[in-house]
Amino acid sequence: MTIDPVLSVEGLGFAYGARTVLSDIDLTVDPGELVAILGPSGSGKSTLLRLIAGLERPAGGRIAIGGTTVADARSSLPAERRGLGLVFQEDALFPHLTILDNVAFGLKGLPRSERRARALDALDRLGLADRADDWPHRLSGGEQQRVAVARALAPRPALVLMDEPFSRLDSALRQQIREDVVAVLRDTGVGVVLVTHDAEEAMSSADRLVLMADGRMLQTGTPEACYHRPVSVEAGRLLGPLN
Ligand code: ADP
Ligand code: MG
Repeated sequence: MTIDPVLSVEGLGFAYGARTVLSDIDLTVDPGELVAILGPSGSGKSTLLRLIAGLERPAGGRIAIGGTTVADARSSLPAERRGLGLVFQEDALFPHLTILDNVAFGLKGLPRSERRARALDALDRLGLADRADDWPHRLSGGEQQRVAVARALAPRPALVLMDEPFSRLDSALRQQIREDVVAVLRDTGVGVVLVTHDAEEAMSSADRLVLMADGRMLQTGTPEACYHRPVSVEAGRLLGPLN
């Protein structure tokens, strides 16, 4: 029996005006798999995530989520109907809502008690259940980012997209928070696309890497395979000791 990937991207292309920023991207994420997209600044990582999220429309190719096509050159399902969890680098929480209400915000259509229970469960997974009634400005940057992850997980999506979620945190804390969050994601069994320009982060977190430069995929494979058997000098440089 084969299981549908949670995400399948085929031949995806995108341009800002006349400027092509993504060409011929192919990508799959299996249930529970953590795929890191690693590339230098400007290589098109965020644009790829925005296309998967439904915040941009592709010029060509196809995106399927859970086996259903959500975007191709002709049609595009709106972001809010793709059922994805999103965590961005600058993840502003609503300052006028408590931590609990921030996490419950996306749980529309559920009874109030169920929203509360799910939000508390998500906060508990991230170790923040005791801060449920507190306010965002009273949390550290790392705690706020953990709340953003809880908010993404609360609706129980099959796929979470994360764009450089740890890059704004102090380096002393970054690794610990990243390890905690990755452990929670693994425990949850959700598929994850993690965008990063940090080779160490990609190597230590991911089941599989996608190496990108100039809007193209250079290589995909396990961290070990990409590190030990780069397909090109360019790919090797992204992970190599000279990086
Ligand atoms: P990354 O996330 O890897 O740093 P981006 O996806 O943000 O890369 O950007 C890819 C390319 O698209 C870059 O050359 C960037 O300058 C360009 N770009 C990004 N956003 C826009 C925009 N709104 N309009 C025009 N060009 C853009
Ligand atoms: Mg980016």
